[in-house]
Amino acid sequence: MNARNCKNCGRIFNYVSGLPLCPACRDLMEEKFQTVKEYIQNNKDTTMKTVAEECDVDENQIRQWIREERLVFADDSGIVLQCEICGRSIRTGRYCDKCKQETMRDLAGAGRQPVRPQPVQKKEKENPRMRFLDNR
Ligand SMILES: [Zn+2]
Ligand SMILES: [Zn+2]
Repeated sequence: MNARNCKNCGRIFNYVSGLPLCPACRDLMEEKFQTVKEYIQNNKDTTMKTVAEECDVDENQIRQWIREERLVFADDSGIVLQCEICGRSIRTGRYCDKCKQETMRDLAGAGRQPVRPQPVQKKEKENPRMRFLDNR
């Protein structure tokens, strides 16, 4: 048994996975999420602050849902998110599609030895002296 204190209410509960929230708070959070989701769908030109106030949810919590890509904003939504890398406007998550691909590629390449640049082929025409040296 993995006992932990609920991040929200402090109650001790049997922690399984995900957010450190007790089942009751987890249900509450899920309800909030649905409220926020509906609110955003029905109020396209809202702001993060308004959503937080109207739905009584912490702005950070909303951002968290966005990062998890659970909340997606319509193209005409008043909430503008920015890619954390290039600053381009995005609809959900943390990065634009382009940066996401690049990050994935970087992750896939992580752990491998950095590729050494190949020695540049000598261009004989451009450097006749090199040929002389090479033929020595
Ligand atoms: Zn709780
Ligand atoms: Zn980007």
